[in-house]
Amino acid sequence: MKDLILVINAGSSSIKFQLFEAAAADPIMLYKGQIDGIYVDPVFVAKDAADNKIANEKLPADKPKGHDTSLHHILNWLKDKTEGGKISAIGHRVVHGGTKFSEPVLITPEVVKELEALIPLAPLHEPHNIAPIKILGELLPGVPQVACFDTAFHTTQPELFQLYALPYEFSQKEGIRRYGFHGLSYAYIASVLPQLDPKAAKGCTVVAHLGNGSSMSALKDCKCQATTMGFTALDGLPMGTRSGSIDAGVILHCMNHLKMDAKQIEDLLYKKSGLLGMSGISSDMRELHASTEPRAKAAVDFFSHRISREAASLAAAMEGFDALVFTAGIGENDDIVRADVCKQLEWLGVEIDLEANAKRSGEPRKISTANSKIAVWIIPTNEEIMIARAAVKNVA
Ligand code: ADP
Repeated sequence: MKDLILVINAGSSSIKFQLFEAAAADPIMLYKGQIDGIYVDPVFVAKDAADNKIANEKLPADKPKGHDTSLHHILNWLKDKTEGGKISAIGHRVVHGGTKFSEPVLITPEVVKELEALIPLAPLHEPHNIAPIKILGELLPGVPQVACFDTAFHTTQPELFQLYALPYEFSQKEGIRRYGFHGLSYAYIASVLPQLDPKAAKGCTVVAHLGNGSSMSALKDCKCQATTMGFTALDGLPMGTRSGSIDAGVILHCMNHLKMDAKQIEDLLYKKSGLLGMSGISSDMRELHASTEPRAKAAVDFFSHRISREAASLAAAMEGFDALVFTAGIGENDDIVRADVCKQLEWLGVEIDLEANAKRSGEPRKISTANSKIAVWIIPTNEEIMIARAAVKNVA
């Protein structure tokens, strides 16, 4: 009987899943899918390994909505797909591992308690990561579950780079430090870089993970040296709807003079800012490129400008710059943003081949010229394979 691994990536409004077969060399992806709008109007979509859409359906409107119903639906749909095999492990993406979890961990009732204690550090994400762990514990009793953390990859940052200039005791007591996120994506890039570019893998590489959520990390010898996200996933680059770094004085102004409460400020910074807020049009990069509105162009220009500034800052943190890697939705697909960023880094020795940059492909590829001092790569990320591998390893 085949051993199957279910990978779950649950958020506040969607649940993504992938089903893998555990194989000797590396897990093989069989199916993937997601339910969007889990609390509003849930829609289930699934694809096979060749990316053919094989399901696209609304969940029954009369059922209660939420993680529970959605996970039931996913497991039911997977039933005939798992014939001749059994789900022998479940891997979960968990956003926050605090200072304790620097590696994936087999989930026990004690681990669940420790994850619950981390909710105050990530109140918008952690509860939605924990809910499926509990639900699947009941639906598939006895199947081991493994938690993989977005923060784990960043625990190698030097202590100095994890600090804020706040009173030391206060920061220590409240756990206020730079944690960093998107770690599973960076770990994937670090896992393939040695084969693609051994010099970059041994040297200093800036990785730009540019999606709806965006961040960048400095990888020295494939370990995290610094990253743009900090205490929360709000810091650093502007994102689809998040502001990125902002003067803390703006928040005090919102509170003291505009009399906004915490929820209003949270909505402003997480949901109404970034590309959406600046353009007033969309959080989706494709729609911004398609628009002729000056504010759409300003939002795109600001995004590229912040990426190039952070690239130089991360290079300074490593005292070196051998390679720049673009990944995730925008990083992998958007030749305009890549060209803008690279143009702004020309003074540092970045030179790309515009034709190679414009070519579309799902494969890792180098787009810098032979003369470029800094190698520039596009590497499609794969966070799910990192979770599947960790699940296999931790239940073996
Ligand atoms: P998430 O953070 O939700 O995983 P993704 O990595 O899927 O996000 O990235 C979503 C972003 O990628 C959106 O802004 C979308 O516009 C952008 N994107 C996807 N395909 C393209 C494309 N062909 N050209 C430009 N941007 C794209």
